[in-house]
Amino acid sequence: MLYSHRRQKAVDLLVKLDLDVLVFCQPENIRYLCGFTGSDGALILFSDHLVFLTDSRYTTQSNEEVTADQVCEYTTKLDGVVAQLSSRDIRKIGFESTLSFGFTRELQVKGNTDWHWQHLNEELQCLRLHKSSDEIDLLTKAAELNADAFASIVEMIKPGVREIDIALALEFALKKRGAEEKAFDLIVASGPRGALPHGIASDKLISAGELVTIDFGCRLSGYHSDETVTLAMGTVSRELQTIFDTVLEAHDRALDAVVPGVELSELDRIAREHIKNCGYGDYFGHGLGHGVGLEIHEAPAVSPRSKMTAEPGMVFTIEPGIYVPKVGGVRIEDTILVTDDGYRVLTKIPKTFSKILLN
Ligand code: ZN
Ligand code: ZN
Repeated sequence: MLYSHRRQKAVDLLVKLDLDVLVFCQPENIRYLCGFTGSDGALILFSDHLVFLTDSRYTTQSNEEVTADQVCEYTTKLDGVVAQLSSRDIRKIGFESTLSFGFTRELQVKGNTDWHWQHLNEELQCLRLHKSSDEIDLLTKAAELNADAFASIVEMIKPGVREIDIALALEFALKKRGAEEKAFDLIVASGPRGALPHGIASDKLISAGELVTIDFGCRLSGYHSDETVTLAMGTVSRELQTIFDTVLEAHDRALDAVVPGVELSELDRIAREHIKNCGYGDYFGHGLGHGVGLEIHEAPAVSPRSKMTAEPGMVFTIEPGIYVPKVGGVRIEDTILVTDDGYRVLTKIPKTFSKILLN
């Protein structure tokens, strides 16, 4: 039922794009469309036939997991895909833009000369863009794991502790509670390191008077959580306090504006304008947010360049930040679901100093 619905979405896309076949190699797309959780395989979708291909390492697993008309084993992926495509009278083939240039070239060289290969990027984003209720459940559970794991280690976040020890404790707490993996290398960036938007935890000791930015998440049954808290280690300078207040306000304003139909670029603009008006416009270099699902970063992007509008079922982050070199930084991030009449915040940790410390 689940997979037949998803398969139908892909078939509809095939028809809409006037293609004869779609070739998927990206693990997240394969998992979404047929249930295979392994890391290597290919999925070939004709309008009336779905074939999953993998190598001998995954044959047993795929027989248990995969919902498709046919499961085939290949010696090399290239030959396996070409053999499947050759078994039908086809001409127009759509494939993911994430496929490597080298592999694509080889497919073209080995395949029939009259095959036309169409590179798909934005066209495929619509497949996984709107989350179904079972996906929302997993994203919600992954976000709850974040909150539980964080609550279990929050007391160790204090001066004298190394960033890396916090990251390790958090990773352990996430896995202990059932996460299959961390979503990315956890970020714990204290003091001046907070000015690095991707400051992976180092062996730096946290000091009193610093802000500590912790960006973390996990994966649960394939679905990710993503959340950032920034905490003060006691009293911080007036400047750091201003930066924190500015980011929190930008976060809250963008969040308040989420409603079906709002342009995602408008959400970015609302947060960015507030930060600019407070004098920190030069210190917010990244987009406001990104989609979260089977990939930690997926569609829709929430940035000045976004073309999409918010629609019910979309899940994305709101994560403004200010990063001032040599001074420090703040990022505050929640993952939200767009609902029929607004939004629901999936991540659970309150994003204010006091509430976090009271937690
Ligand atoms: Zn994050
Ligand atoms: Zn994020």
